[in-house]
Amino acid sequence: MIRIGLVMLQGARHSHISALESASRETGIDIEVHELRKSSDLESSEPHAIVIPGGESTTMRLTGNDPASSLLPAVFDWIRAYKERPVLGTCAGAILLAEPGDGGEPLVDAKIDRNGFGTQADSFQSRIEATALGREFPGVFIRAPRFIETGDKAQVTAKLDKEVVGVMTHNRMALSFHPELSNDSGFHEWLLLTAEKLEADSK
Ligand code: GLN
Repeated sequence: MIRIGLVMLQGARHSHISALESASRETGIDIEVHELRKSSDLESSEPHAIVIPGGESTTMRLTGNDPASSLLPAVFDWIRAYKERPVLGTCAGAILLAEPGDGGEPLVDAKIDRNGFGTQADSFQSRIEATALGREFPGVFIRAPRFIETGDKAQVTAKLDKEVVGVMTHNRMALSFHPELSNDSGFHEWLLLTAEKLEADSK
């Protein structure tokens, strides 16, 4: 049984649950999704992997750093403590991974421009090359951030033509699009398979 912590600050959380369920069926890996709203939820659920959905990063920072929740500092601590555990950050979730804003090291080695692909009106869909999956993937971009620089510790995991739209450092995957809004659960399968492998290796 793989436990997934889903950061419930804002955004398309329920689509992530559907995508995780579909990934579970595809891979045959049993999962339990734990909704994380405050830091104590993280302690009690002891997840093997974490998903940080999109939304509006400014709002997510406000809600997640509010003393009533303190979820974001706890999530960042967890990510730094369990270096190899898989994390999937989509859109605003990718912004938080690249810019945790807590004075600590970025969680993926890349610089990101929050609204680099323009406004809501510039949202679009396009086939992308998911190098991490070794195939094409339907990319859904909504007020998408843009990676403006990728460092030595970042592996490119998705590309839209020549443009980098996915990076990974350790097993933290930051995607500027929304894989949970397409009918392809490939990136969620990656999350489950990586978490399961890590679990098996630790036994
Ligand atoms: N551009 C948004 C932000 O700044 C992210 C958009 C999204 O997650 N769909 O947070």
